[in-house]
Amino acid sequence: MIDLHIHTELSPDATGTFGQYVDSAIEHGLKIVGFTEHWDFDRFDPTCNFDIHRRSQDTCRKYCGPIEVLYGAEIGYHRIYEDYVTKCLDEVKLDFILGSVHEVEGLMIAEVSETGKFFERFGKRGFQIYFEAIANFAQDGIFDVLGHLDVIKRFSVLFDFPFREEQYKTQIIEILDILVARNKALEINTSGLRQPPGISYPSLKVVRWFFERGGKHVTIGSDSHEPAMVGRGCDETIQDLINMGIIDITIFKERYPVTLNVIGEPGRWVVRKLR
Ligand SMILES: [Zn+2]
Ligand SMILES: [Zn+2]
Repeated sequence: MIDLHIHTELSPDATGTFGQYVDSAIEHGLKIVGFTEHWDFDRFDPTCNFDIHRRSQDTCRKYCGPIEVLYGAEIGYHRIYEDYVTKCLDEVKLDFILGSVHEVEGLMIAEVSETGKFFERFGKRGFQIYFEAIANFAQDGIFDVLGHLDVIKRFSVLFDFPFREEQYKTQIIEILDILVARNKALEINTSGLRQPPGISYPSLKVVRWFFERGGKHVTIGSDSHEPAMVGRGCDETIQDLINMGIIDITIFKERYPVTLNVIGEPGRWVVRKLR
């Protein structure tokens, strides 16, 4: 029904045009999609994607109609660029900013070989170092939604470092508390369901902690990098949330959260908008 994390061919690691994504989304019964091209300010030249965002936003608008199309960006940045990033984001009118950490201690932790190097260098302490980086990122808070909170677990298991959230509960709660205090949303990224962990980033256990700490806004995204994957895992996750008694799913428009109340059976969900 909703997928707020999609990359088209305008992201360096994805394929598919806006049109192909929208067609696929309609085919899969989605009602709302949010495009989130990469905008990386960490490893790359911070200026490199700037025009892409302006141009892609114009293209994106043409596809609004049969389904609701939102336009966001997935940003990653190094703290030294913070002022520059804020200035860039102010210049492009986005519906939401998904803030993600992809690089820690100079290594891409969402990439298999660099995750290997990361754990080779830091061992089990790598998880602690990773969550410290996330806490700093959350503290800076120049985003609306924190993306894939524990994506470090994507490949850690392949290097004999399985992830157990209970072992890092104190650090995770600290991050969730920062999000709550700053009224930020937490993303449930369903790509983990089809990747080595077989579970979303973060798991629904962590989502429950977020609501228990006073969190109000969760978004759902597939992190699709090809049109056929759009919406993958999103309906199942919404149903799991409903089963847990959580019926509030958030989308963003012009940087404001809009909470949808999802009730009823899959395929016949009724959605009410709340502010
Ligand atoms: Zn990401
Ligand atoms: Zn992404």
